[in-house]
This record gives sequence, C-alpha cells and structure tokens, in this order.
Amino acid sequence: MPTPKVVLGDIAGARNNLPYSKEVYAYMRLLEKSSPRVKVFLHRTTEEGREMIAVAVASEELIAKLDENKAKLAKLADPRSIGMNDAEAARIAADAVPVYYITGTIHSTESGAPTALMELAYRLAVDESPYVRHIRDNLITLITPIVEVDGRDRMVDLFRWHMAHPSETYPNLLYWGHYVAHDNNRDAMGLTLKLVAERPHQYIDQKAQVLHDLHESGQYLYDNTVGDGPYNAWLDPLLTNEWQMIGWQNVQEMTRMGMPGVYAHGQFDTWSPGYLMFMAARTTASAACTRPSAMVARPRRSSGLSRRPTYSAPGGDRTRRCRACSGRCAQQQLRADGPARLAHYFASNRRQFSRTSTRRASGRCSSRAPKARRRTC
Ligand SMILES: [Zn+2]
Repeated sequence: MPTPKVVLGDIAGARNNLPYSKEVYAYMRLLEKSSPRVKVFLHRTTEEGREMIAVAVASEELIAKLDENKAKLAKLADPRSIGMNDAEAARIAADAVPVYYITGTIHSTESGAPTALMELAYRLAVDESPYVRHIRDNLITLITPIVEVDGRDRMVDLFRWHMAHPSETYPNLLYWGHYVAHDNNRDAMGLTLKLVAERPHQYIDQKAQVLHDLHESGQYLYDNTVGDGPYNAWLDPLLTNEWQMIGWQNVQEMTRMGMPGVYAHGQFDTWSPGYLMFMAARTTASAACTRPSAMVARPRRSSGLSRRPTYSAPGGDRTRRCRACSGRCAQQQLRADGPARLAHYFASNRRQFSRTSTRRASGRCSSRAPKARRRTC
C-alpha cells in the first residue's frame, strides 16, 4: 500500500514540504487504486478550473454499499419519506452507518491540513488496530483535503518562491482564493463562491451527519464546537447538545492521548450564519471546527522590518504534536456512537419538518425562539 511518501518524497507533514493540489489528489487516487476501502468522488471545478474532490474511506463492505447506505440515510434526512415513523427510523438508525465529513484548508495560508488528511486517509485504509478498525467498520469517513483549491496552489507557489529566495522579502498572499481572502468562510448565506456553493451540495448529497472543518489559528488545539453560549435559538437543541458532546469528547480523548493544551472554551458563537459549520447546522447535522496550532510549514512572520517569515511551528514539542496528530483530532471523533448520532439526526429533522407543518397550519411561529426573536418570525 503506497504511503504519502510515494508522492511527497517525505513523510506527510515534513517541514518545508507543501504539495500542490494535483499531488494531494494523485495520492488519493493512488490509494483508491490500491485499496477497496477508498473511493474518490470528483465534484465540480473551481473558478480557475481545478478539481474539487472528496474521498470516502471505510471497510470494503461499507464502500461497496455506499449508495445503499445513502438511501437509508436519506430516509432519516427527510422523515416525511417514512411517514414520521419513529419505529422505522430506529430500525434504520441501527442498520445504517453515519457519514463523517472532514474538510481541510478553506484558508490557503493554513497549510497543514492536506498532508494531515493524506496521512489520515492512509491510516484509515490500512491500520488494523482495533481503534481504527472500529472506525472503518462503523462509519464512512468523507474527506475533502483541500476546500480552497485555487488558493492552495497559489500558496504553494508563494511558499516555493520563498524557499528559492530565502533572503528576499516575502510577498503577501493577496488573494487566498480566486478573488477573496480570509472571508471565503463567511459566504454560507450568499453562496457566491464555488467552493462554498459546492459544500452544501456534497454535504446534502452524501447525507453526512458531521462536518468537521480544519483550521489553523491560535496556540495549541482549539475545538470551537463547544463555543460560547447562548447558542443561536433557531438551531435545534439536539444539534447544539451534540456540539457539546463532540467537543468535550475531543478534549477528553486528546488529553488522554497525552496531547496537552487542547481546549474548547474560546470566543466562538453560533449567531453568524456565514461559516461552513453553519451550513451543516442548517441541514441539521453536527458541525465541528478544529483549529490546530500552527502546523509544519505554516509561514509565520517574525517581528521587525524585514517581515521575513519563519517556516516552523512555534516550539519543537508543538511541531511534533501537530505532526503526530496527523488528523487524530478527527480520527478520535470518528469513534462517536453511530446509532445515537443517526437517532439524533432523524429526531432533529423530524422536529424541523414538524415545525414547518405546524407553522403552515396555524400561521403562527411555533419555534422555541426567545420572545424578542419570535416577533421577527
Ligand atoms: Zn481558517
């Protein structure tokens, strides 16, 4: 079975080694060719014509039954299709497996996710430990290694230029994508960018229960799923409770694995309807957003007039931790209890459709939103 090294020439996450999207895709396709546990989906193309892909990894049996499983999940996604029947939903939830969707590098300068996700796909496909086998046999992991593909390739251009001209001033990455910068993950309302417009399509089409979006920002590993309440009252409490469950499970397990510094309480609220995770929330699935500390090869500007960046994570231990993590923050969450997640998925969808019918029937809003917001229904 080929490891990421076959394409990268080094281990995934090695310092000063950033692959272009075509190299990341080449590895995922090599994995697909080498393993019945991997399937690559080609989605649309970017503004500049580059491919957007998603990679499914699961046991041979689950990969062979992707469509069959999707048809089952579709019934939980639209409870009207089974007449809002709780008993039927419970039967399906016990029989189907959930889809856990992981996305990387919507922000081009946050450059570590693609290689971490190559490594994760590899480990999920080959590792025979009970831990990984449990994930592989009970869950379909869907991975989009690069969300902002145009920006990723531009970032790699810039990075390689810097490597070739180490003593010269490092230019800024003006556009992180085709024509936007950081705010490409604030487009969930407008859906004007192909990378964002594609996400609900993939998300809804694959009937995923969890969206896990990887970022890089502050120190250590921050799971912002838990966030800061009060949560947006228009989101189903079943959903926001799952955020708590997933977020704390992440903190707990990462701590148990000896990765200190994982935290959940930061300044994140659920009132901005722009993020990728909000897209997931609007389709009644859980969404997690994990921000590892600076990963290997992330440019970090030193102070001073030269503005010359350093290509290292801040501190050897942390570098090792990020490298050692290699998507483990996602991996451990994949062990989440499948039937329970599907039961929540159905119940949340059921409530949504029930609310819609009630509202239509009575002409009044029946949501549990606070009074101040209810007036605006
Ligand atoms: Zn980001």
